[in-house]
Amino acid sequence: MGNVLKPRPNPSLLSIIIPCCNEEESLPLLRAEVTGFLESCSWPCEIVLVNDGSSDRTMELAAAWCGADRRIKALNLSRNFGHQYAVTAGIDYAAGDAIVLIDADLQDPFAVIHEMVDRYREGYDVVCGQRIVRSGEGTLKKITAWFFYRMMRVFFLKSLPKDVGDFRLMSRRCVESLRTMRELHRFLRGMVAWIGYPQTCVRYERNPRVAGTTKYPLRKMIRLALTAAVSFSALPLRISFFGAGLMTCVAVEEAIRALIAHLSGKTVPGWTSLMVVLCLSNAALMVAVGILGEYVGKIYEEGKGRPLYLVADTWNVAETDDDRELAKAGSTPKGSEWIPTFVGIERP
Ligand code: UDP
Ligand code: MG
Repeated sequence: MGNVLKPRPNPSLLSIIIPCCNEEESLPLLRAEVTGFLESCSWPCEIVLVNDGSSDRTMELAAAWCGADRRIKALNLSRNFGHQYAVTAGIDYAAGDAIVLIDADLQDPFAVIHEMVDRYREGYDVVCGQRIVRSGEGTLKKITAWFFYRMMRVFFLKSLPKDVGDFRLMSRRCVESLRTMRELHRFLRGMVAWIGYPQTCVRYERNPRVAGTTKYPLRKMIRLALTAAVSFSALPLRISFFGAGLMTCVAVEEAIRALIAHLSGKTVPGWTSLMVVLCLSNAALMVAVGILGEYVGKIYEEGKGRPLYLVADTWNVAETDDDRELAKAGSTPKGSEWIPTFVGIERP
């Protein structure tokens, strides 16, 4: 079934969401890059910086930037919630017709956003950035990422595009669909792929990080991969079921052999086979219980129904429809230089 593309005009407001965790070294360079980018745009933009519990001067620099430019908005989360939650917070607060997710470390070039907007105007609801080159990233990261996307596509989510991170543009209707999905275990790339609507990719070269170090060490990547696998399919449960089935067959075969040996009086040999079956069946059992535990744990956490993130302060965030209309028209909303507001809980 082909996509039905309905061409649309430029967005009346483009929101760019940038999660930041300990990015004090990248922020001045990001600011210079964003300033140049905003000048090159023929449509109004807002930038939503989300400070994800940084322990350095990230929030201070972000707040100063908000003070100098009303198009820059900032959310300060109450602690570090993780990249996927920081992005979720940004999505909830963004007012644009189209939304772009991009990292703070300038690995993804801002110039690609122009190409994304072109595809948006052609009628695509999701335009993903597909990496053709990943410079400055370790071999281990490249290999694990290569395997991850291919395994995910084969076993869990066929529609997941290859070599695509969170750098993407989404239309308002896609964002509204995404906002209804409040699951705690979030793998946004997969969730967006699941939503559907016309989706496409633009290819680009990923640069090395401009400053600082990665905030996604192997441990966090493994956790995200596990979330991705477990939250999109019950396949691991099924595999463990078949594994246990296979072990049962082996055990039955060994039991018959042991019985025959007993009846024919040859009972002493057979210790090795006994040990092998015992070890294998125990291992299979432990794996099956482990996989089950992974799902039960996720159900337990999901059952608590906690908010996905908490916002401590906001800067330049339009709290009223009037403010949002002014922002769309490219004007400066009324008020002081920057408006620190307190939002105790996640917005509905
Ligand atoms: N990030 C975040 N919270 C975290 C970890 C990362 O908001 O707990 C942000 C980080 O500041 C950056 C983006 O997410 O803007 C991607 O992180 P990073 O560049 O370290 O990941 P990598 O590109 O190495 O996978
Ligand atoms: Mg990065």
